[in-house]
Amino acid sequence: MNSPAALSKTQALAGECIRLSGLVQGVGMRPSIYRLATELQLRGDVANCGADVLIQIWAPAPVLELFLETLFSHLPPGSRIDQCERQALVGHPPNKFLIQDSRPRSNSGEVHRSGIIPDRAICEQCIAELFQSDNRRYHHPFSNCTSCGPRFSILKAQTWERSNTSMQSFPLCSDCQLEFNSPLDRRFQAHATACPKCGPTLRYRQNTVDHQSDVIALAAADILAGKIVAIQGQGCFQLACHARNEAAIARLRKLKQRAQKPFALMVESPTDIDPYAYYSAAEQQLLESPAAPIVLLKTKMDLLASEIAPGLQDLGFMLANTALHHLILTVIKGPIVLTSANTSAQPPLYKLDQALQVLDSLCDGIVFHDRAITHRLDDSVAQLVNDVPRLLRRARGYVPAATALPPGFEQCPPTLAFGGHYKSSLCLLSDRHAVLSAWIGDLNSPAQCEDYQQQLIDFSAMNHFKPELLTCDQHPDYFSSTQAAELASETGMKLEPVWHHHAHAAACLAENGRALQSQPVLAVVFDGNGLGPDGTIWGGEFLLVDYQRFQRLGHITQFPLLGGESAAQQPWRSLLAQLHTSLSWSSLVDEFSDLAIIKLLAAKPIRTLEGMMTSHTNSPLCSSVGRLFDAVAAALEICFEKLSYEGEAAMKLQALAQQSIDQGSYPIAVVDSIDGSQLAFSTMWQALLNDLLKGAAHTDIARRFHNGLANAISAMAAQLFQQTTDWQEPTVALSGGVFQNALLLKLTIKSLEARGFTVLSHSLIPANDSGLAFGQAVVTAARSLTANTGMNDLCA
Ligand SMILES: [Zn+2]
Ligand SMILES: [Zn+2]
Repeated sequence: MNSPAALSKTQALAGECIRLSGLVQGVGMRPSIYRLATELQLRGDVANCGADVLIQIWAPAPVLELFLETLFSHLPPGSRIDQCERQALVGHPPNKFLIQDSRPRSNSGEVHRSGIIPDRAICEQCIAELFQSDNRRYHHPFSNCTSCGPRFSILKAQTWERSNTSMQSFPLCSDCQLEFNSPLDRRFQAHATACPKCGPTLRYRQNTVDHQSDVIALAAADILAGKIVAIQGQGCFQLACHARNEAAIARLRKLKQRAQKPFALMVESPTDIDPYAYYSAAEQQLLESPAAPIVLLKTKMDLLASEIAPGLQDLGFMLANTALHHLILTVIKGPIVLTSANTSAQPPLYKLDQALQVLDSLCDGIVFHDRAITHRLDDSVAQLVNDVPRLLRRARGYVPAATALPPGFEQCPPTLAFGGHYKSSLCLLSDRHAVLSAWIGDLNSPAQCEDYQQQLIDFSAMNHFKPELLTCDQHPDYFSSTQAAELASETGMKLEPVWHHHAHAAACLAENGRALQSQPVLAVVFDGNGLGPDGTIWGGEFLLVDYQRFQRLGHITQFPLLGGESAAQQPWRSLLAQLHTSLSWSSLVDEFSDLAIIKLLAAKPIRTLEGMMTSHTNSPLCSSVGRLFDAVAAALEICFEKLSYEGEAAMKLQALAQQSIDQGSYPIAVVDSIDGSQLAFSTMWQALLNDLLKGAAHTDIARRFHNGLANAISAMAAQLFQQTTDWQEPTVALSGGVFQNALLLKLTIKSLEARGFTVLSHSLIPANDSGLAFGQAVVTAARSLTANTGMNDLCA
């Protein structure tokens, strides 16, 4: 270590203790600090401390500033600094710069902030090594380094140390140990590192026979031959087949009991996408990001789409994100269909024993290994709207990264949120941060509910989380709500349920950094359903909201949910209910009897159904925009009788609309009523049915509906802004699953901005129900911080 004269006089050095919080562990932060500090010939040390990184450093003052500036402008990939605390340091500097062992956080009473970082896709350097025949990791399926590889998916306990991961069973060989100990090596303290000598072993099971050699070649050959092969992915087992093999895809659909729902594709590099879909620079960046999500891209032709994503304009692509996937795809040289290994109503498989048992009879081969998955994570799904990434499914690559909370939440009590019923998730909130779990699934089957309970235990334990407050949805019959109530009665903890649409809105506010005490804004929350305070089913809401309270200023005109639950599965029911509310059946028959859909409806027991709707027998009132989309889709004869997956009607309707550039827009009226303003659809239905009579293109009709709805939202917002004295800042938040519709989101933002509104929308927190837990946690924390009673005194 050279020690220049300028630094030899310790009295000329300023000492500082710097604490970095955020995503700072498991990302190569300490080695990059070490490298920079030794380059600048500084003295001191760096260590992991709790979930933070602690630097003690001595340097002449200007050099210290240069050190920090350089560090912040060259952060290792995947890291994020949320906070940098600096304190003067007394005492004598050591002679050089050192990396110290991890130390516990000094004030141990503090609730542990999650420093656990998400899994990261294999990096470029590791990929390069993978294909260098003279490298000792040539074709090693488990290659990773400090800046890439598994993290949360193999972690058994905090903090990020090899002994806390499932790599514990693989002691480092002497070569790996050497790298692990060398501060300047890419694998310095890379806890998941391995090589063919010391790492996990890959196997291929065919007809109950396990092969230990030629695993990749055997599996790839099977996929090329049209077989279905299971692969032990980073966060769960996956099922793969060739993307150009119709028979294989048809078989996969049968096996997964998945008639129409789109599959995602995996390719090795972006250029492999070229024949099939378009992608922008921003989309490529998202595909290549360390999280490596599935990204929805506009298809070029129907070549793949017709089998893989029937009736849709988008295909979901992801890039190979582990060495194993690269090795397989290099042989196959084309896209593969890759989907989580589960059957209907079961969570994806991730435990080896169970997977081998179930998959043996389901597929033709299984690629597996002895590195256990400790947390199930399936692939995340995202799309870009207005160049902003929007997560539709938050899992691998994003979970369990903490979300920093806005100003005002500094003192929030540890809060556990139980989420909703569909796409359920959990959220832990404390100490200025929220940690949202991966989406768990719909709590419809015993298997899903059991899985939810397990996730609840694991997620809290992993984060050393001891809540003081509990929160859930106001719907008392949700499985998640009953779990919350049980825990509350067992422990005596306070449980504060949050109304469904308030939680959606609050999630949007918090994600966008709105301070705790900000002025209320308008939230447009459109989704499938959620219980409202008036006992009806909400889902097309215009709410004046802050974190503590909300007031319903408007909604779409209520209509009967014909047949209750079955309305969500059979779009014709929503069509009939919408028509019944807007126009009378007899006038419909008079004017539109030539239409195929009127004939189809006439074949139903109309009189009985009308009676049910009029008397509200098994036909509760709702204001669900989700069901409105179903109705319009049914009018265009898209899945008229039955949906084969949730959101099918809306997704196919969007796909139709995307094929039209029609500027027309159906008239949707803003009308006043005793319970606030309403968007009324009778004029729209009249125009839409007339278009059908005239034989207008279905693409144009779908487009006019989207245009009309976007215009109606902004017209309603403008009118409410005029009328509402408590709404002073022209800001509108958009939330709820309906805004996963990229076209509607884009049109609505455009229309609102044209009227001068600032629009808040979702990006890393999903707009759908998997973001609810985050919103519940934020509302509950906000109320406790502001000592609000939590009563919705403003609400209708
Ligand atoms: Zn790497
Ligand atoms: Zn080794």
